[in-house]
Amino acid sequence: MNQHDERAADIATPRRTRDIIKRHNLELKKSLGQNFLIDLNILGKIVGAANLDKSKGALEIGPGIGALTEQLAKTAGKVAAVEIDRRLLPILAENLEPYDNVHVIHGDVLKLPLADLIRTEFAGLSGVSVVANLPYYVTTPIIMKLLEEKLPLENIVVMIQKEVAERMAARPGTKDYGSLSIAVQYYCEAEVATIVPHTVFIPQPQVDSAVIRLKLRKEPPVEVADEKLFFETVHAAFAQRRKTLGNNLLAAFFGKDNREEMNAQLASIGIDPARRGETLTMEEFAILANALYKRRASS
Ligand code: SAM
Repeated sequence: MNQHDERAADIATPRRTRDIIKRHNLELKKSLGQNFLIDLNILGKIVGAANLDKSKGALEIGPGIGALTEQLAKTAGKVAAVEIDRRLLPILAENLEPYDNVHVIHGDVLKLPLADLIRTEFAGLSGVSVVANLPYYVTTPIIMKLLEEKLPLENIVVMIQKEVAERMAARPGTKDYGSLSIAVQYYCEAEVATIVPHTVFIPQPQVDSAVIRLKLRKEPPVEVADEKLFFETVHAAFAQRRKTLGNNLLAAFFGKDNREEMNAQLASIGIDPARRGETLTMEEFAILANALYKRRASS
C-alpha cells in the first residue's frame, strides 16, 4: 500500500466517517459526548504525545467508531478500548477488523475496576498510557479516577475542553489556577500539548478543545502527612475565590471566633492570611495542610 492508499483507508477522514455514520444509521448521542475526530494530523499529535511504541500498551476511553483506536493500533503493542455505547460495538468490530492487537471492552469507564483491567490487558508490556478523546460531560471525573486510583500509568494524553486543560496545567498566580490544578499537578507534570479547533470533529462541539499531556510522577512533589486533609485544605482555600485565605480557612477549619489562633498559626509558617488561595504554591499548601494536621493531632 502506498502512503496515499493507506491514508484513504483511515477511519478518521470526513468522508469515511460520514459514510460509516450513514451506513449504520447512527444517531450520535450528545449525552455521551459523541464528537468524532476527522483529522489525521491531530490524531498524529495525540498519539505522538503519548510516546508509544510496540513495547507499550494504550488504554483508550470511548473509541467511538475507532478513529483514534486505529492510529493507536498502528503504534502501540496493544490497545484496550472501553466503550459505553453498545450500538458502537459491531461498528468497531468491523472497522478495526484489520488490527489484531485491539480489544474493545463494553462498559462505563467510571465503573470498571481499572487496576485489574490494566493488569490483565497489558501483561508483559513495558508501560501503559491512557490516550483518548474524552467525552466532555465526564472529563474531570474520569481523569480524577485515573489519578486517585494510583494506576500504573506512564502518561495520560487526552483531548478535553480547552478551559479545563488550561485549569489543569495552570501555574500559581494565574486566573486559571485552582483546586483542579493542584489535584492534577500533585500526581502529574501537566502540559497543554496543542489547542484544537472545533472543525476537526463530527459533529462540531460548541467549545474549543485542547490535548493535555499528563506525565505521571513517581512520587508527589510535596510531602503531606494526610492526603485527604491536604486536598480539603486546597478546596477550602478556593471555596470562595474572592475571600482571603484567612477567611476561607476560618470558615472551614478554625471557626469564626478563633481568628487570633489562626493568625498565629499562619504566622508560624510564614503565610499571610490576607493572601488569596490562588497565590499559594503547592509547597505552601503542603506546609499549611501539615500544620493543620499537627493542630488536629494535638487537640
Ligand atoms: N475516540 C473517538 C474519536 O476520537 O473519534 C470518539 C470520542 S467521543 C468524544 C467520546 C466517546 O466516549 C464516545 O464514543 C462515547 O460513546 C464514549 N463514552 C461516553 N461516556 C463513556 C463512559 N462513561 N465510558 C466509556 N465510554 C464512554
